[in-house]
Amino acid sequence: VKSKLPNIGQTIFTVMSQLAQNEKAINLSQGFPGFDCDSELQKLVSHFMQKGHNQYAPMSGMPKLREAIAEKTRKTLSINVDPDSEITVTSGATEALFAAITATVHAGDEVIVFEPAYDSYQPAIELSGGIPVFIPLTMPDFSIDWDLVKSKVSDKARLIIINTPHNPSGYVWTSDDLAQLAAIVEDKCIYILSDEVYEHIVFDGRKHLSLLSHPQLRKKSFVCSSFGKTFHITGWKIGYCIAPKALTVELRKVHQYLTFSTSTPMQLAIAEYLEEESRYLKLSAFYQQKRDLFCEGLKSTPFKFFPAQGSFFQLVEYGHLTDCSDLDLAVRLTKENKVASIPISVFYSGNQDPKMLRFCFAKRDEELLQALDRLQKAN
Ligand code: PMP
Ligand code: GLN
Repeated sequence: VKSKLPNIGQTIFTVMSQLAQNEKAINLSQGFPGFDCDSELQKLVSHFMQKGHNQYAPMSGMPKLREAIAEKTRKTLSINVDPDSEITVTSGATEALFAAITATVHAGDEVIVFEPAYDSYQPAIELSGGIPVFIPLTMPDFSIDWDLVKSKVSDKARLIIINTPHNPSGYVWTSDDLAQLAAIVEDKCIYILSDEVYEHIVFDGRKHLSLLSHPQLRKKSFVCSSFGKTFHITGWKIGYCIAPKALTVELRKVHQYLTFSTSTPMQLAIAEYLEEESRYLKLSAFYQQKRDLFCEGLKSTPFKFFPAQGSFFQLVEYGHLTDCSDLDLAVRLTKENKVASIPISVFYSGNQDPKMLRFCFAKRDEELLQALDRLQKAN
């Protein structure tokens, strides 16, 4: 086969989760909650299944869910979005990201990607014939060097992909970041794809700044999120994209032939579950307790770290301990210490290896404590 993605193999998430399973290690690699979702939500799904809601949903999503998303956006951001023309329900944020990239990127267009970057962006860009332009985030906090961005945005740039809170670093965008981005795209035909799947997981009193909250940026943006992260249901694969009408029209042209629509009873269950706003508003406090517990325990391991600002991931530095590559260390820790992590070099386009590992702390406290105990002997 003449591969269209010759350099792509299995994702690191598959590789490390498989290794964790084979080695019977605690799996802090792939990002998914190690506890179940609310049984109320499960009951709602079977309720809607038994009521006969088992056929295709409308292409753009169940009206009830789109209305509930509009209501959530009103409550959290004080912004009105039109559920009919600006919201599309997708099969996970992954589909929304793919559809937005496919809908906007023409062959030869440049797409700005900040790295380390979530691994699904680059293949989608390349399948559209786009050219990713990678811009490294600035260590140690993974903030953005806006002068560098200005120098990299050429006349060929069509799309800028951003991710806040950021996977893997947890960096949370500031109002200055929004203002800098707005100045760069002003008067240019550049769209923005904002991956906000961790929108409800921010720490230490920070506020998630959605691109929807910036009037100029909103006009050019696809904003994607995922119920997988917010309601501990990564296996349901339900997400959504909010974009202005003209962009939504183009996004839906792709979505209708990619998946057409997504699970009907699950959409209805989520729509009803969303009515109680504390169910997503309490998520930051829930995960902050886990981040604090994990970071407290990390102090008695040999790793160095800066506590994550958001998301459910914590990066650690190990360069002072060993010269080995992050992949080698991640494999060794899984085999010898029985704790699996993600080597972050996989989130870079080149051979960068900042000697860091990513741990997912969306796990039960006992599991985190046991993992920390095992990591004390890391070397
Ligand atoms: N974007 C980021 C930054 C992620 O970490 C993930 C991982 N779950 C996704 C998108 C994909 O979300 P979903 O599972 O809803 O497809
Ligand atoms: N988003 C998850 C992570 O970053 C993994 C999703 C996947 O397995 N594709 O770990």
